[in-house]
Amino acid sequence: MDFSTLCIHGGKCCCDTSGAVSVPIYQSATFAHPAVGQSTGYDYSRLQNPTREQLEVTVAKLENGADAMAFSSGMAAVAALMELFSPGDHIIASDDLYGGSHRLLHSISRKNGIAVDLVNTSDCSLITSHIHPQTKAVLVETPSNPMMQVTDIAAVSSICRAHNLLLIVDNTFLTPYFQKPLLLGADIVVHSGTKYLGGHNDTLAGFLVAKDAGLSERLRYIYKTTGACLSPFDSWLLIRGIKTLSVRMERQQQSALKIAEWLRTQKSIRAVHYAGLPSHPDYEISKRQASGFGAMISFEVDGSETARRLLEHVSLIQYAESLGGVESLITYPMLQTHADVPAEEREAKGINERLLRLSVGLECADDLIADLNQALGRNA
Ligand SMILES: *Cc1c(COP(=O)(O)O)cnc(C)c1O
Repeated sequence: MDFSTLCIHGGKCCCDTSGAVSVPIYQSATFAHPAVGQSTGYDYSRLQNPTREQLEVTVAKLENGADAMAFSSGMAAVAALMELFSPGDHIIASDDLYGGSHRLLHSISRKNGIAVDLVNTSDCSLITSHIHPQTKAVLVETPSNPMMQVTDIAAVSSICRAHNLLLIVDNTFLTPYFQKPLLLGADIVVHSGTKYLGGHNDTLAGFLVAKDAGLSERLRYIYKTTGACLSPFDSWLLIRGIKTLSVRMERQQQSALKIAEWLRTQKSIRAVHYAGLPSHPDYEISKRQASGFGAMISFEVDGSETARRLLEHVSLIQYAESLGGVESLITYPMLQTHADVPAEEREAKGINERLLRLSVGLECADDLIADLNQALGRNA
């Protein structure tokens, strides 16, 4: 079945007999047993709920995984993931990680005795040189946030295989519509479902997708024990969002390319980071491992004054955190997503007072360009 069909019909596993075309919201915490020792298949909603199950089955199919677990947020998914590891274990992660994941690894995981090395995972030799006997996993975000650096998933996967490490990929930015990490050799996929999967800036959600039954069993145990599961209503919103994932991704990407090309021609813009531009250093590897480039752009303006004015004068585009929804959003990574990353580390990555990140939504690209143009124009 084609991806776009799976987005709409991938979850048909529920025994509802009413004929409802839209999956019912089973707003129940618990389920009655027909007899002693018997179960309808549902016992308690932390373990499984019929609405959430529809969502999880769909996401597992979209990512070509054996199982998917829906969490109450992306960070809840990452926090549960880290429960796979024990004190003394060592993890290698992308140095250009989502700010919240960076904070989790640095504060909570470290406190729990897990050593973390952050390296530029687009350089495979750096990964290899950091592997030691306690290393258990490599966590990669590609393209990275906000610098849009691309990691070669298949290449990292062969390093992981050789050293018996888990490869975990955060696929939030491209979604399985454009990139399928499990088919490229990853073991676990992470998502902030708050972003493109939900797609409407209205729900927090997260996912872990397991490649095989063994990993599914380990993660399910953590999932049911720690309990950050997605509610039936939010599961329904995610099911509804995913139905239009293919069309949204296509259209948002189309607009992003147009806007990236326009930004490049502006005098007050110093650099545009978008993997869909042939001038991007990772353009070729992106084309090889993904079927698209997504709709996230970061760009550097000519000074912090310009950055501030742009943020204050956009009107259609909203100055807000998050990404991937139908509404276009612009963020100031230095003050928002990456505020907790030490200044030195941030600057070294290019996350400075001139860098802005744009999530291109579903508005007409020309209207978005006009909005950026008027906001930049006021700087003249
Ligand atoms: C937003 C985000 C997260 C965290 O997800 P929440 O739903 O906000 O908890 C993790 N990874 C990436 C790449 C993100 O963009």
